[in-house]
Order: sequence, then C-alpha cells, then structure tokens
Amino acid sequence: MPNGKPAGVRCIQLDENNLCKIFGQPDRPKVCAEFTAEAEFCGTTNQQAIQILTELEQA
Ligand code: SF4
Repeated sequence: MPNGKPAGVRCIQLDENNLCKIFGQPDRPKVCAEFTAEAEFCGTTNQQAIQILTELEQA
C-alpha cells in the first residue's frame, strides 16, 4: 500500500482466502517477510487473531 497499511485496515494484497498475493515476490514489504506469527497473539484461527489483536489494541 503506497503510504503503508494502517492498523486494522485490510491489506490490499490479501486474496479472498486471506493469502498474500505477493508472497515470495521482491515487492513484498520487508516487515511482512520478517514477521513470524506467535500463537499468543495470533491464536489458531483468523477469528482468534482478530479477537486477540482487538483486545490488545484496546488495552
Ligand atoms: S504479508 Fe504483507 S503484503 Fe502480504 S497480505 Fe500480509 S500485510 Fe499485505
């Protein structure tokens, strides 16, 4: 996204299955390539991730 992705905004690179459309490509942001999911923050499902991250942002 040209000016970065604000928190809580769906990335324009996500496809309908929530997979990154530019995965493995050089234009994928460095921060994405270096991110490692942690169960503590991401849970085990999309719904858990949204719930946990929403609670953390509100705290
Ligand atoms: S990995 Fe990065 S570029 Fe790909 S969908 Fe997620 S936030 Fe967007």
